[in-house]
Amino acid sequence: MFLSTPSLRSFSEVFGREALVVARSPGRVNLIGEHVDYQMGRVMPFAVDRYIDCAAAPISEPEIRIWSSSIGGAPLRMALSELRPLDGDDAWANYVLGVIAEYVRSGVEVAGFEAILSGDLPLGAGLSSSAALESVTALVIESLSGCAKSPMERSKLCQAAEHAFAGVPCGLMDQLAVNHGRAGHALMIDCRDLTLTPLPLPAELSFVMVNSGVRHALADGEYARRKADCESAASMLGLTTLREAELSVVDAGRESLGDRLYRRARHVVTENARVERFAEALKNGERAELGRLMAASHASLRDDYEVSCTELDVLVELATDIGAVGTRMTGGGFGGCTINLVPREQAATFCNEICITYQKRQGQAIEAFTVEPVDGAAIL
Ligand code: ADP
Ligand code: MG
Repeated sequence: MFLSTPSLRSFSEVFGREALVVARSPGRVNLIGEHVDYQMGRVMPFAVDRYIDCAAAPISEPEIRIWSSSIGGAPLRMALSELRPLDGDDAWANYVLGVIAEYVRSGVEVAGFEAILSGDLPLGAGLSSSAALESVTALVIESLSGCAKSPMERSKLCQAAEHAFAGVPCGLMDQLAVNHGRAGHALMIDCRDLTLTPLPLPAELSFVMVNSGVRHALADGEYARRKADCESAASMLGLTTLREAELSVVDAGRESLGDRLYRRARHVVTENARVERFAEALKNGERAELGRLMAASHASLRDDYEVSCTELDVLVELATDIGAVGTRMTGGGFGGCTINLVPREQAATFCNEICITYQKRQGQAIEAFTVEPVDGAAIL
């Protein structure tokens, strides 16, 4: 079982002493509500039982030393007085360094520490290893400096770090999902007023992640471009964000928006409505409706928002053929994972079949695994 022991052992292997604190953060998956958080929409993620652990101990020098089992090599070192983002091979550390910088900026006295990162959360697969990495760093800082923040404050500091140091203009969904996760529940987040509503998930369904294993290089620039498209569309409609837009208003503005901005806005508005409907369908146990909404979400992301790719479209098609209750791309897109709702007793067969049929069709080996909704990040 994956518990604190591996990270504690690696800590002493890397630094030759015992760790003082271990923080653990889950990843997250989004059930529905994709690419709407930065337009103040509604989203429905849950924290998953794949984790990043951070084991740490204070040092007397005013510097940071971090080592990741996913990167290897020598620990990365940086003086606390010279915190700055790094390029190239060391850029992974920006998620850690950025959080330290945000805590310092918020007035927390961060002293030197050394830390190792380990775990079983895949990097860059759309399960938000970035928010998990930020959150374990934040918890370690809070624990070592004795300044406890609320999960909401922590999420905002982590988001600010991702903006400033990693250069990703992300919404707040990922950080909220990994910090506020609740076992057995999804978290409906209204990004406009940040209300969080835990929704019980049906125990008879399994959640299967199918990892396409691809990450298309255009992902990062396209994310920023989608965000800019939404901002342009909202401003042309005389609105602050597309959250305030009714579909009738978007339809009425079709000509002035032009085809691209019209479709971007239509995605955001229809996706928002789907999240609300999904919450009702969950409450009422309407399986077919869950599937229909996920299919519509995928089609909208593929056709209107243009963030899917062949691999994800093929996975959705195959999952539908194999008999998934619901299936769609999840996360930023251009690769990463699909999420699939499958009757629990069929989950193992589904995982096998989708890998085999995908390999036959695309000539690529992929992996599929179930995830469970778990509690959010914490000190162990
Ligand atoms: P996602 O959040 O979906 O996993 P991102 O591109 O947002 O994808 O973040 C992935 C990046 O975060 C990785 O490429 C790496 O730079 C960094 N990262 C995440 N987890 C770790 C880890 N355990 N060790 C080192 N870097 C990590
Ligand atoms: Mg991320």
